[in-house]
Amino acid sequence: MPRPILATVHPDALQHNLARAHHFAPDARVWAVVKANAYGHGIERCFDALRSADGFALLDLAEAERLRALDWRGPIHLLEGVFEPRDLELCSRLHLWHTVHCTEQIDWLAAHKTQVPHRVFLKLNSGMNRLGFTPAAFRSAWARLNALPQVDEISLMTHFSDADGARGIAHQVAAFEAATADLPGERTLCNSAAILRHAKLALRGAQSLSADWVREGIALYGSAPDFPEKRVSDWDLLPAMTLSSRVIGTQTLQAGDTVGYGSTFTAEGPMRIGVVACGYADGYPRHAPTGTPALVDGVRTRLIGRVSMDMLTVDLSSLPSAGIGSEVVLWGRASSSAEVLPIDEVASAAGTISYELMCAVAPRVPFASS
Ligand SMILES: *Cc1c(COP(=O)(O)O)cnc(C)c1O
Repeated sequence: MPRPILATVHPDALQHNLARAHHFAPDARVWAVVKANAYGHGIERCFDALRSADGFALLDLAEAERLRALDWRGPIHLLEGVFEPRDLELCSRLHLWHTVHCTEQIDWLAAHKTQVPHRVFLKLNSGMNRLGFTPAAFRSAWARLNALPQVDEISLMTHFSDADGARGIAHQVAAFEAATADLPGERTLCNSAAILRHAKLALRGAQSLSADWVREGIALYGSAPDFPEKRVSDWDLLPAMTLSSRVIGTQTLQAGDTVGYGSTFTAEGPMRIGVVACGYADGYPRHAPTGTPALVDGVRTRLIGRVSMDMLTVDLSSLPSAGIGSEVVLWGRASSSAEVLPIDEVASAAGTISYELMCAVAPRVPFASS
């Protein structure tokens, strides 16, 4: 019998969350962002649920090949573009659309022999200072690309640093508008936080900020990018992954008894705890402290003590009927009740974000779909 831990991907939730992007950005086409193996959910496992997306965005060429192997013939966008000149061969062969964010990538295109002209997304660094041309260099990059026979359509792109937070996006939108004002081409600006919070903001008068294409990542997987200000329920998003396991042992403690490595938890009175087959070697965050929420038999309780490699402990004081075999949901949906534990709550308790937890589910954890 394998360990009872399981990651379950929910296709209905993926479909629902994709529809939410269309709701918030009704005029836009939606890239389903499936980088990092669909944020840890598995590209192949998510593909059917997401095939009504207008395109898939990712950054690993091997992942683009996997999408074509699934017979996806629609758009694929390489968000970081190519990493070396020979990657352009694959772009030509698989019809990948690719970001162009630096001069070297233009040089490589200029030297590339191709039958099919490429569709590219010229990226503006509008203030995040990660990838992209500065506003001062943007127009000459556009003009150079526009003169290349290897280039077909040029779209315009930028990425927001603070769409989820107080600083917002107005300063970057202003930089984008100024740098691109009279350039033709489709636009793509919004990530999940911008889709949910800012998609209706005006851009260039008549056009909405979400004009043309939006890039939905984390919201697709059922996490609120702006947690704790907003929760998934506020945005009507559903968790696309449940990480669950079972109780494999119980202990009854007396006042003064401690739990786990480092004895970081001390019982104040008699209590019962459950030992769960899930640890940091499964990708569960070791930094999740006492108090981090979990569901046992569909009822909310808390972690106590330190997370160890293969096990963690939960408080069963308010769950007299729980015992060996009880279902424990580390995040996602309980099977025995309508209770949902948003991954955002677990991530926040552990001092990180949902993205990291999804991507960190370890290879030893089996996956299922339902
Ligand atoms: C990852 C990524 C996205 C998606 O971001 P979310 O916050 O997950 O929605 C969008 N655009 C770019 C360029 C990205 O790298």
